[in-house]
Amino acid sequence: MHDTKHQVVDTRVAIEVAATLIEQADALIVTAGAGMGIDSGLPDFRGKEGFWRAYPALRSASLDFYSIASPEAFQASPELAWGFYGHRLNLYRRTTPHIGFDLLQRWGERLPHGLAVFTSNVDGQFQKAGFDPALIYECHGSIHHLQCLEPCCEDIWRADDFLPDVDEQNCRLRNLPPVCPRCGGMARPNILMFNDSGWVEQRSAGQEARLDRWLSNAKRPVVIEVGAGTTIPSVRHFSHLVIQQHGGRLIRINPNECGVPTPRDVSLAMGAAEGLALIAEALGPQFG
Ligand SMILES: [Zn+2]
Repeated sequence: MHDTKHQVVDTRVAIEVAATLIEQADALIVTAGAGMGIDSGLPDFRGKEGFWRAYPALRSASLDFYSIASPEAFQASPELAWGFYGHRLNLYRRTTPHIGFDLLQRWGERLPHGLAVFTSNVDGQFQKAGFDPALIYECHGSIHHLQCLEPCCEDIWRADDFLPDVDEQNCRLRNLPPVCPRCGGMARPNILMFNDSGWVEQRSAGQEARLDRWLSNAKRPVVIEVGAGTTIPSVRHFSHLVIQQHGGRLIRINPNECGVPTPRDVSLAMGAAEGLALIAEALGPQFG
């Protein structure tokens, strides 16, 4: 793209179209991937280098994201696996969701059928920002919930009582990991990991069923997809399903991979907070 003038005009047009799509919709579905968290200051795990910059101790152990994010890591090196997840749990607990969360919530509240969320993020930031927990589907689970590592049962419980003490330099948990109240064995986050046949999916399955029911009553849904890449495509698949099966329209905000499936969809090549703030300007104060 050398013609920056054209690009600026195109972006302005795209923003206007996005605002119109939101005004004309009866329901808003926010679909979010890892890019949604970056403007809240959360690390981007993309690529080995990005991951190891955030967790240098795992570089020395030659463990990439795929190796540490697995039940096997909890079996083989519990202190390291819990060092990684404990650090993330602490980080997400102290993170404040950026302004974009607020904007999305306000727009959704203006629409007759309201708003719902589909996210691959396990960080709990939508709940923290005040979204209705009954209409959030966390397709990969939540770090704020625990389950048995074995698993000996289907129980899922909140992680609130677990306060990880992490030696960040060495990515190691200093205190005891949480335990399963049924069998006394080690507990793990209720997150779908890699090579994970032990994930207890009841909680996410319940969320999915509620979201499906809600979606079946939406007449003109608009999807605002934020920061969802192609590497782990669950979020994109869901966005596309809404436009194909529910006659929805798509606004895709992504700085690197912003191609859209049809010419009726809107593409914004930028970060989450910037894209959402520009749409807010176009919508004007009466819509916020
Ligand atoms: Zn157990």
